[in-house]
Amino acid sequence: MTARILDGKALAAQIEAEAASQAAALTQRYGMSPALAAILVGDDPASALYVRRKAEAFGRAGLRSETFHLSADTPEPEVLALIADLNARADIHGILPQQPMPPQITPRTVFEHVDPAKDVDGLGPINMAALLVGRPRLVPNTPAGIMRLLQHTGVDPTGKEAVVIGRSVIVGRPVAVLLLQANATVTWCHTKTRDLASHTGRADILVVAAGKARLVTGSMIKPGAVVIDVGINRIEGKLVGDVDFPSASAVAGWITPVPGGVGPMTIAMLLKNTVQAAEAQFHAARHV
Ligand code: NAD
Repeated sequence: MTARILDGKALAAQIEAEAASQAAALTQRYGMSPALAAILVGDDPASALYVRRKAEAFGRAGLRSETFHLSADTPEPEVLALIADLNARADIHGILPQQPMPPQITPRTVFEHVDPAKDVDGLGPINMAALLVGRPRLVPNTPAGIMRLLQHTGVDPTGKEAVVIGRSVIVGRPVAVLLLQANATVTWCHTKTRDLASHTGRADILVVAAGKARLVTGSMIKPGAVVIDVGINRIEGKLVGDVDFPSASAVAGWITPVPGGVGPMTIAMLLKNTVQAAEAQFHAARHV
């Protein structure tokens, strides 16, 4: 193995500690305590696990979080009504509708109803547009976590070839925009891309967010590249990423493990966004 491990777990612990002390300072200075409302619709076990992990992280950092668990057959208007209530509550600063949602609910409609100031996922249209025009406010958690991991390597993206596999609104699109803003030359790959390996083989920075186990193998990677594996796939009860770790780590310069890479960073960035959102809401309320 030649690659250095990008330890997301350790870096996330550091960011969580920072968020905890920022939250404590807000409580001390203004008597407010940043809080998250998570919305879980249905009984998808992976979603329930993510929501629980997020709640635990908030608990560890001394931040409040409430989980609203709705049944799988909840009609969309009921979810939107809950969001309207949460938008109006001064003691809730972040709203997190967990995906995936049951088929009667359109996730984009849900995100469009979250107050942009409380959109700590950064997935609503206002925060997405802010990101696209280069004036980011609440940046989506997973892409923000990926950029922090990249920063940790000390590799400056300026002028580098960055290849992103995946174009989802949650990961692929925003991370490509962030890499572009960091002055990388960005290539976006997706299911219609021809000859994936010809693109990945040029990448100094490779972000893989396809949701396909072992899509990228060592022979597709440029020696010394930074490889960030976002994928979470369950194979025979084991978690694996989108990158074949044994062959990729023999070629890459840096690589994230799965689990313990991007996953914990996503949660840490959610904490950070919630504290940032709480502080912004406090100042906005004082200036009305
Ligand atoms: P998605 O299914 O919405 O999008 C997958 C993207 O990958 C699509 O744009 C598709 O075009 C592309 N793709 C799929 N197969 C491909 C192939 N063979 N070649 C090229 N492109 C291909 O998924 P998503 O929500 O972006 O998530 C991607 C993966 O990341 C999943 O495994 C998901 O579980 C994981 N994920 C992890 C975190 C985390 O915190 N670690 C957060 C979000 C998503």
